[in-house]
Amino acid sequence: MALDPRDLYDVRSLLSEEERAVQDAVARFTDERVLPIIGDCFDQGRFPAELIPEIAALGVLGATLPEEYGCAGLNSVSYGLICQELERGDSGLRSFASVQSSLCMYPIYAYGSEEQKRRWLPDMAAGRVIGCFGLTEPHGGSDPANMKTHARRDGGDWVLNGSKMWITNGNIADIVIAWAQTEEGIQGFVVEKDFAGFSAQEIKHKMSLRASVTSALYFDGVRVPEANRLPSVKGLKGPLGCLTQARYGITWGPIGSAIACLDEALGYSKERMLFGRPVAATQSAQIKLADWARRITAAQLLSLQLGRLKDAGRMQPTQVSLAKWNNCRMAIDIAREARDLLGGAGITTEHSPIRHALNLESVITYEGTETVHQLVVGRELTGINAF
Ligand SMILES: Cc1cc2nc3c(=O)[nH]c(=O)nc-3n(C[C@H](O)[C@H](O)[C@H](O)COP(=O)(O)OP(=O)(O)OC[C@H]3O[C@@H](n4cnc5c(N)ncnc54)[C@H](O)[C@@H]3O)c2cc1C
Repeated sequence: MALDPRDLYDVRSLLSEEERAVQDAVARFTDERVLPIIGDCFDQGRFPAELIPEIAALGVLGATLPEEYGCAGLNSVSYGLICQELERGDSGLRSFASVQSSLCMYPIYAYGSEEQKRRWLPDMAAGRVIGCFGLTEPHGGSDPANMKTHARRDGGDWVLNGSKMWITNGNIADIVIAWAQTEEGIQGFVVEKDFAGFSAQEIKHKMSLRASVTSALYFDGVRVPEANRLPSVKGLKGPLGCLTQARYGITWGPIGSAIACLDEALGYSKERMLFGRPVAATQSAQIKLADWARRITAAQLLSLQLGRLKDAGRMQPTQVSLAKWNNCRMAIDIAREARDLLGGAGITTEHSPIRHALNLESVITYEGTETVHQLVVGRELTGINAF
């Protein structure tokens, strides 16, 4: 029996029936609704917001949170497969879903009051309320402890001042999970978009994640009621806990990008006739294709085991760092090499590899750069902090 080039090791056979059904549903959505429009969206620098209701209807938003809050109550492997299939379409759509789910709904669920959960989560799962996550500041994202945005108590309220940079969903968000220094350490606040003194400015001229909204956020004496402070966490462990959730999903996403590039380069190289034979008949093309399949297979197994550890409550942040580093590096290298195999045709958005390669420049940078994750693994091995 012929093997599936997208899944040489039949990793799919390790999935439960429910996990396969989730993957198939999101794969169908990507094939039918994303792929026909996404090249144009990227060209135009436009996030396809019209797809949000359909994404929500698939149960993708906050997918792992409990049904009592309007969410799908899926396991972590299913969430990973969602990320993989969305990113097979475009990293921008996966970024939208990651931010909404792992960086906004998760902190409300994990650190919020019961009232906050009931107020926000059902509407966020339904895509009626969009969130963004404000951690990074203009002076250096890799060192979030050096946070300048601050909040001080004023009567029963808090007053926020500062700014955030590179914030996904910023201009389409109804709420911001904003992290700020306080006298009691870093705390999270739900800032609503119409609070006086809050503003968002979209970052233009991006060459990466063009089908995604990225913004700078400004807090100029924004008054936030105590009811909007996330009560159950203080310190950097709050935002870092969210990032671990999101990075877990990001380990799966680039597998989708890489599969899209392999698929496209396979098809193209079998049809492209040069020197009287298909490019795919040359040894150098086959070595490249085989090497991509090898790297994709390793990444699939890495993320699946990570997901099983997460579902068993045993996943460690260092393991997430290793997989984020490995899988982003795997995908960006494959996307660049696939672009090359397509020759001149590879430089337009009619084919996906250059779009994926450019997107992955962001994916390998955000949520901890490659260097940051290498240093996390190095610290684990040596016991020495080299940051
Ligand atoms: C498209 C996009 C979307 C994003 N979305 C969000 C979001 O929704 N919310 C949010 O809060 N942030 C978001 N970010 C920010 C992202 O997380 C940061 O860009 C990232 O953490 C890196 O921070 P920086 O850009 O300030 O780079 P810097 O931290 O200034 O890093 C510059 C360079 O220094 C290297 N470096 C850092 N530390 C060390 C060290 N100890 N030793 C050696 N080298 C080191 C880095 O690897 C990098 O190469 C987004 C970024 C992008 C590009």
